[in-house]
Amino acid sequence: MSKAFFIDTTLCTACRACQVACKQWHDLPAEETKNLGTYQNPADLSFDTYKLVRMKEEVIDGKLRWLFFPEQCRHCVEAPCLETAGDESAIYQAASGAIIYTTQTKNLDADEIIESCPYNIPRKGPDGTLAKCDMCLDRVLNGLLPACVKTCPTGTMNFGERDAMLDLARAGLATAKKKYPKAMLLDADDVNVIYLVAYDPALYHEFAVAANTAFDVTRSVALRKMLRPLTRATARLF
Ligand code: SF4
Ligand code: SF4
Ligand code: SF4
Repeated sequence: MSKAFFIDTTLCTACRACQVACKQWHDLPAEETKNLGTYQNPADLSFDTYKLVRMKEEVIDGKLRWLFFPEQCRHCVEAPCLETAGDESAIYQAASGAIIYTTQTKNLDADEIIESCPYNIPRKGPDGTLAKCDMCLDRVLNGLLPACVKTCPTGTMNFGERDAMLDLARAGLATAKKKYPKAMLLDADDVNVIYLVAYDPALYHEFAVAANTAFDVTRSVALRKMLRPLTRATARLF
């Protein structure tokens, strides 16, 4: 049975313990950063940053609100990046549902993979290898929680069997609706990282929801694959 996260952003305090725990567990280096006029740090995901707590300040209904969004790979149920790669030695789906990138991603068309992700997640390293959250595959295989979930002190991050997480997400939504009438779950049917947000998701982050529906993404991948030999053949004619 597939595993999933439920991330209740209404409980997040932006302490960034999850972000640090992810770096620590994966032995990823710190990044040199600069003040960009926001508490968000670093500015974006990178080859060395798989988890990033995004922070926005918005005036909503006349009140200043802090919007926190602990960003990571969504481990899509039918992952467009995996479909696009078409090479299981580079990108595969583990039994837990995790979408895993290997060092063989350096042999893929990195830009094509990045473009295929509806959430703008994969990042390219100096040699073309791609990296992102791996759902802490080693920890989960050994019965441990992902490092970010284990570390979160507020109950924002949850992890377990997909059905249990969906139940938790629906219960969380019912509770959140009492305080935040516009609260919603994001792309819950299509992803294994289910976010609950209090406000319009576009206020949190440009890629908070999928750029396309999963159906459209899968269809566009299939269409691209069909057209690829034709495009190459056409290119050879000229
Ligand atoms: Fe792949 Fe992007 Fe889905 Fe992660 S969020 S599994 S990188 S398509
Ligand atoms: Fe990082 Fe593991 Fe959490 Fe993914 S599941 S964001 S790799 S700590
Ligand atoms: Fe939010 Fe939990 Fe991460 Fe802290 S550890 S930033 S509360 S998700």
